[in-house]
This record gives sequence, structure tokens and C-alpha cells, in this order.
Amino acid sequence: MNIIRKRSNIILFLTIVFFAGLVYHTVNIFVNANDWVLNTRNWHLTEAGNLDYAGSICDCKGNILAYSSNGDRHYNDDESIRKACFHVVGDDSTVNMYNSVQNIYRAELIGNNFLFSFGMPKNLRKGKDITLTIDADVQKAAYEALDGRKGAVFFYNYMTGAVLCMVSTPVYDPENIPSDDELENDEQYEGVYLNRVCSGLYAPGSTFKLVTAATGLENIRNVEKVVYHCNGTDIIGGNDINCEFVMGDVDMTGAIVYSCNCYFGHLTDKLGRFAMTRQAEKMGFNKSIVFDGFESAKSEYDVLELDGNEFAWSGVGQANVLETPLNVAVISAAIANGGVPVMPYIVSGISGVDHEPRQVLGERMMSEENAKNLSDMLDSAVAVNYGKGSFSDTFDVCAKTGTAEVADGQPHAWITGFCRNEECPLAFAVVIENGGSGYREAIPVAAAVLDAAEKSLSDQ
Ligand SMILES: [Zn+2]
Repeated sequence: MNIIRKRSNIILFLTIVFFAGLVYHTVNIFVNANDWVLNTRNWHLTEAGNLDYAGSICDCKGNILAYSSNGDRHYNDDESIRKACFHVVGDDSTVNMYNSVQNIYRAELIGNNFLFSFGMPKNLRKGKDITLTIDADVQKAAYEALDGRKGAVFFYNYMTGAVLCMVSTPVYDPENIPSDDELENDEQYEGVYLNRVCSGLYAPGSTFKLVTAATGLENIRNVEKVVYHCNGTDIIGGNDINCEFVMGDVDMTGAIVYSCNCYFGHLTDKLGRFAMTRQAEKMGFNKSIVFDGFESAKSEYDVLELDGNEFAWSGVGQANVLETPLNVAVISAAIANGGVPVMPYIVSGISGVDHEPRQVLGERMMSEENAKNLSDMLDSAVAVNYGKGSFSDTFDVCAKTGTAEVADGQPHAWITGFCRNEECPLAFAVVIENGGSGYREAIPVAAAVLDAAEKSLSDQ
């Protein structure tokens, strides 16, 4: 009797364990469907070319950027558009390009409904289509303006957050993939999988003067009216800070207009490490920016270990300061938008279902009054120094260039700013790696993209 009861207890126990396991795995598949589908052991991914029946990716005008046909993945018909959209769209693999739509939205694109797709032939499974906010023609204009140089271009609407243009170079043509040997050894492909807008960390040079100016405005009353006499050089922290030329008497506007290193080195020294660090962190440093699954590298402002002279140089975006083009653009967006940035977004719809209109606000970076002050200073920089003629007549552009010295080679050429026109509310950042002068090299790129952007926005 006892033996029989023991046996039936064991059978009951095993039955419970079996059903508990079944329930656990079923729930697990439902709850973790997205993780599961990206698991490398999943047969979707271990097959070569798992995008071969995936959904398509379109720009804001309905131009197809990527699609699958007869078991192959294809990209736009125009080679320049394919290359210009390379980093936003991504390649076929899940390992090369972290910050790309085909990586981040892989589960949606290939269709991840386990119960309905398991065992179903791949060509009958239906992945979702994704619509982006970027415009292929603006992408192309940016790609062509970079003209074979390495760099990054980012333009977005500072009122809605919609990204109009995100281009990173170098690239290759996804319809004609270079050999592994070429990709590894050819200098022209150096860092080809890096989306430099999000993941490129560069010395920001004079574009960082916006952070130092904001720190001054936020911490010292009427600082913008204080006049400093620039002799072309100043000794701070026992060593030189130099300007390109002798600028004479400059207030903050003059120092922004002529990009006076001595003024900003002096102001940095006066503000101190605590105030500079606190304000830099308010303006996006030492943390990532995340939007629609894109995740930026952390811009770096860490001055505690620097000597006095290096600390002064940090206030002009040199020393050990590093920044992503994305962060540079978000700071300009905040200045344009009264001190609070609207954060970017790039996915406007998935399979015909529009994403909720999102206007995600970032942390306030400065008071509305100080944003207005800075905006006027950037307006003067264009009007007095760069020349309004640098941009098409129709634009009211406020901007700051940068020529960031680097250890090896030519400086990085920068420009950041925004358009004040109501019909063209774009904030932007452009960097050309080792491109030389920001004034000579970066301004024409921004101007060309603005022309394409205005055309795009007037068509929308
Ligand atoms: Zn100066």
C-alpha cells in the first residue's frame, strides 16, 4: 500500500513539475518575445541574411530606403542616398552597427510573433514597415557636402524633435559591400560602422564656448556686460592662453563673435571647476542621450585632475573635453527653444500606425532670458563675423563655428546653431574630422544642408 502511495506521489510531483515548466516557458516566450527574437541561438538570426523577408524602411516622403524582395535585402536605387542613409538604416548584420534602425528595430522588421510565425515559411511571415522622420534628399545633400571627408551632420526640428538629417561618413554602398580585407585595411573605411553623430567623441573647440558663456550667465549677474581686454595672449594657471589675433576690448558678445580664447579662458578660471562641471552636466555632459533606441556616447567634461592652465583651456573646448555632434546640436536646440531642449526622435510610424506625437523635453539648460542672450550673441556672430551671406538670404541663422586643435593632423572643423525662421525651425551640428577651419569648411556644409532642408520642409 505504502509503496503504491509513494509511487503515485512521485508521479503527481513529476506531473506538477512538467506543467510548471510548460507554463514558465510559455509565459517567458510572451513576456520576453523581443529579447528572445534577438537571441543569437534563435533560428531567425542564425540563418544568413535574416532580413530577407523583413519589412521596409521609408523616409518622411515615402521614399523606400530598404526593402526585401524575393529573399534579398535591397536599398534605395540612388547610390548617394544609399550611402547617405547607411548609418541610419544600418546593414544586414546585428553586430556591426549598434545605432541603426535595422539593428534596433530588427524584431519588428522581421516579425516576432512566435505563435503565428513559428514553423511558417519565412516568405509568409510578415515583418513590420518603419517610417522615419529623415528626408532622403536632405541626407543626400549632407553626404555630398561632406565630399568624401570623414564627419557627421545632424539637423533636427527644435520645436517637435523630428530628425531631418543624420549622416555619418565614411560609408560604403550596401549594394556593393567591400571585402573584409578592404574594410579592415583601407584607410578610407576607418571606423565605417561608427555612427559618428551619436558615437563620435571630438574635441568641441569653440562650440564649447556656448557652455562656458551659459555658465557665466547663470552664475554671475550682468557678466555679459563685463569688458575684458584681449592682448592676443594671457597667462592663466602659469601658462599661455592664445587667440588668433589681438581682439582688444571685448564683452561677452564680442568674445563670441570673434571667438576670443583669452576671454573664455579667463571666465572659466573665474567660474571655477564646480560651477563649470555642474553647468556642463546640465548641458548633457557625462551622460548618454537616448532616443528611439539610439544611444549616444557620453560627452566628457572631467576637469578635477587638470592643472590651472588646462582647466582654462577646457572652457574653450580643448584640454580633455570631448563631445558628440548630437550633444552639440541639442545644446543649440535648447538655446533656440528658450533654454529647454526638445529631444530628438527619428521613428514616426511602425506599420502604418503613427507613433504618438512626442515632444520629449530634456532638462532645462539655462533660463529663458539667458537663452535669449545667447541666441542674440550667435546672431551677431553670423551678422558681424561670418557674414549673413554665408547662408541663403531667406534664413535667419544664429551660429558658432569651431576649429578644434587635435594632437594629430589638421583641426576638426565645426559649426553649430539654428535657424530662427518659423517655417524652418532647425538646430544643427556639423563636424568635419581634421577638416581645418570651421569658418571655411563647416559653414558651406551647413549652408548646403539648410537649402535642402528648407525645400523639404516647404514640401511637407
Ligand atoms: Zn582674444
